[in-house]
Amino acid sequence: MKKVEILDTTLRDGAQSEGISFSVRDKLAIVETLDGLGIALVEAGNPGSNPKDLEFFQEARSLRLKHARLAAFGATRRPGVPVEDDPQVRSLVEAGTSVLVIFGKSWDLHVTEVLKTTLVENVRMIRDTLLHARTRAERVVYDAEHFFDGYRANPDYALATLDAAVEAGADVLCLCDTNGGRFPEEIAGAAQVVRARFDGRTAVGVHTHNDSGLAVANTLAAVRAGATHVQGTLVGFGERCGNANLATILANLQLKAGYTCIPAAKVSGLTAAARRVAEIANIVLADDQPYVGAKAFTHKAGMHMDGVRKCSESFEHVPPESVGNARRFLISEIAGRSAVLARIQRIAPKVQKTDKVVDEVVARLKTLEQQGYQFEGADGSFELLVRKALGTHQPFFTLEHYQIIGERPAKNDREGAAAIVKISVEGRTEISAAEGDGPVNALDRSLRKALERFYPALAEVRLTDYKVRVLDGNRATEAKVRVLIESTDGRSVWTTVGVSTDIIEASWFALVDSIEYKLSRQ
Ligand SMILES: [Zn+2]
Repeated sequence: MKKVEILDTTLRDGAQSEGISFSVRDKLAIVETLDGLGIALVEAGNPGSNPKDLEFFQEARSLRLKHARLAAFGATRRPGVPVEDDPQVRSLVEAGTSVLVIFGKSWDLHVTEVLKTTLVENVRMIRDTLLHARTRAERVVYDAEHFFDGYRANPDYALATLDAAVEAGADVLCLCDTNGGRFPEEIAGAAQVVRARFDGRTAVGVHTHNDSGLAVANTLAAVRAGATHVQGTLVGFGERCGNANLATILANLQLKAGYTCIPAAKVSGLTAAARRVAEIANIVLADDQPYVGAKAFTHKAGMHMDGVRKCSESFEHVPPESVGNARRFLISEIAGRSAVLARIQRIAPKVQKTDKVVDEVVARLKTLEQQGYQFEGADGSFELLVRKALGTHQPFFTLEHYQIIGERPAKNDREGAAAIVKISVEGRTEISAAEGDGPVNALDRSLRKALERFYPALAEVRLTDYKVRVLDGNRATEAKVRVLIESTDGRSVWTTVGVSTDIIEASWFALVDSIEYKLSRQ
């Protein structure tokens, strides 16, 4: 197995993504997650341009990491300034990490039009900064920004900038497709030239962006051409269309291409790590993300389900458990009885096709589907339905009543709705009230407030998505609505469903299922 070193830049390039903002605590939690996954290098900030990052690096010294080494990121010195006097370079070194990543310009256009300096001075900037860093860090990665565009425009100059970096002692030359515009064959061709030029003297790395939808393909092309260092972000977010998605790259390289990126035993932690990073970043991990998305191993067509049950390779490129994901069979009319059986067996493995409970679940599904329920996307509610049919489900609480108070227009110091909920748990009653941004939010807060006294684990549950579908469009105000609620506790994600002519009641059904599902998993 050939080794590939992974550098995750979720906390630096990823943080440059629209809508992403990390607190120091978020950053520490992400470093721990990446370390737990066995990632070698974590680029954790740019202390020269962001003072908050310097604070992070101070806090990070107390982390006890098993696999990961932290890296600070910064630019070459400014034109015409001695390297010792450049405040950004000073901040970079002050971060105190054993690994430094320094980026410089390889594209002549950027040197003359953006930096507004001469081609000769740019080469000096690279050499001076790397020589300076060399004596202050154990390992220095040189990020050749816009390398592939530069190589296309002026190959001699682009290579001359790399010569300077290697002469000054760079351990890795990381070639960047900063604008994400290049194709795999261009990446492979240029990477081969660089590898041949510096063979044995320095490692070659790659850093790609997804503006052409090719970040993963471009990274793999560079690795095939000899790159042994790969940069990206675990779930792919980053500037514009994102960075190379490391979860995809890691699984591809390690499960299919014969490379080692993280310890073999850690690959099954990939899905959990990706979901945790998304959770901390407060983004919804796309269901169709390769390997780690909720739909990555989901089967809907009856023939596919039948095939997978006979031989999983028939419709799956890798076993879902190899990356810590899970196979799902969707429940719907097209799935039929055998799919329902397969789902029941996941909860109660001993149930057979001829058992009465299968008929009960099929009949119940039919009735509920007629009422407007749909369990295709609501695995949480489906599991509860099966447990109820099996007689293994105990309700965790009973609703006495709830009351919603809406107020319009909302007063500036108050949210627009409040909810009072009265429940009982084993004979003890609890009343709670909460305000919310809308009636469903108020109801959710109030219900969980009432229950947290009995079930503290509910404190970690959050709703991540809320969808309403009107079922009879012709008579909209008297029509039924179906509400789907997606919830998470940071480790897993589940969806529940409720149907009613009253949107609040439909939401209530879905909320109750979400909570009961979480508690039944404890
Ligand atoms: Zn980048």
